[in-house]
Amino acid sequence: MIIAIDGPAASGKGTLAKKLAAHLGLPHLDTGLLYRATARALLDADGRLDDARAAVAAARGLALTDFDEARLRGRAMGEAASVVAAIPAVRETLAAAQRSFALRPEGAVLDGRDIGTVICPEADVKIFVTASPQTRAQRRALELAGRGEPADYAAILEDIRVRDERDSSRAVAPLRAAPDAHALDTTALDVEAAFRAALRFLPAAG
Ligand code: C5P
Repeated sequence: MIIAIDGPAASGKGTLAKKLAAHLGLPHLDTGLLYRATARALLDADGRLDDARAAVAAARGLALTDFDEARLRGRAMGEAASVVAAIPAVRETLAAAQRSFALRPEGAVLDGRDIGTVICPEADVKIFVTASPQTRAQRRALELAGRGEPADYAAILEDIRVRDERDSSRAVAPLRAAPDAHALDTTALDVEAAFRAALRFLPAAG
């Protein structure tokens, strides 16, 4: 079974994807890490984020596992990732890796922005996760504070607005719900409630 989970930054899609994967015994790929790792590799080499050739080379060099999450999770890297993610050739390069991950015999759970629309339009279950920008900013602030990073709520909210706008308005694979996706608004839901709501979208066992 392939489960495609999409949604904007800090909507809760990553946590939900992890929980569903653990529950179903399926491998999970957080596709945002691919874009973050591409941006990180460019910056580590003193490259520019809008250098398409260098970005494609960086994307090609990635392994799908062994991400150094501590160096990828920060706020700056999310912003940098959304710049390289707007380069069509980078998306194309990373699409192949994501598709082969999804096509494992046992299935997979993938989360990102275009999983249900572009990467796995044939997914068995699609979920589009949203939450209000204010709620998402609060969650991100808590997460950053938990990691000892500066967590200025107003700056994070602005960041979320900028990223939503860039991710939704880019020409290739913009952030968008697939027509057959189940909508899940997590604004008023905690992690457990969101998980229970998502379970209702799965086909009945047997
Ligand atoms: O999900 P995360 O916040 O880690 O994603 C970082 C950035 O990578 C997003 O803002 C988006 O621009 C990009 N991304 C994407 N397509 C995906 C996953 C992430 O464009 N499937």
